[in-house]
Amino acid sequence: MKTLTTADGASITLDDEKITEFRSTLRGDLIMNDHAAYESARRVWNGNIDRRPALIARCAGVADVQRTVAFAGTHSPRLSIRDGGHSAPGYGTNDGGLVIDLSIPRVRQWLWRRQLAPYVRYFFSGSQ
Ligand SMILES: Cc1cc2nc3c(=O)[nH]c(=O)nc-3n(C[C@H](O)[C@H](O)[C@H](O)COP(=O)(O)OP(=O)(O)OC[C@H]3O[C@@H](n4cnc5c(N)ncnc54)[C@H](O)[C@@H]3O)c2cc1C
Repeated sequence: MKTLTTADGASITLDDEKITEFRSTLRGDLIMNDHAAYESARRVWNGNIDRRPALIARCAGVADVQRTVAFAGTHSPRLSIRDGGHSAPGYGTNDGGLVIDLSIPRVRQWLWRRQLAPYVRYFFSGSQ
């Protein structure tokens, strides 16, 4: 079971099968608090921001971004899109929700080259 915070602050619980199924669709890692990389993956540039997302989808390619966006559309977790992690107020992370992590350089390059990163952000602009 995994509890996620939704965009409006409610809690939803996803059973392990749904998490396993989502993870199996990704080439990159799905990082939760029991993962060895969790502490480093949740850090952002501003050391005063100390948030603990429930899920960090470290996307390894565009298909991972698409699948993570679809997962977010189905379950409506609180959502942050993280790229460089330099947002001073920490908009690239959250407590209890999902982070779409675009920080793997080739994903970032692909999205920016096609000028898509702002659209990924805009798509979810109501849920910040
Ligand atoms: C040391 C330093 C130097 C800087 N220098 C400059 C500079 O020279 N010029 C300049 O213009 N800026 C500068 N900045 C500001 C920085 O470019 C901005 O904060 C920028 O947004 C960071 O991009 P990022 O990809 O690292 O964002 P991240 O921290 O990865 O955050 C993701 C971005 O996506 C947005 N986002 C996240 N989730 C959602 C959502 N659900 N819906 C909609 N949007 C969402 C956030 O608002 C945020 O902008 C600097 C910041 C730092 C820390």
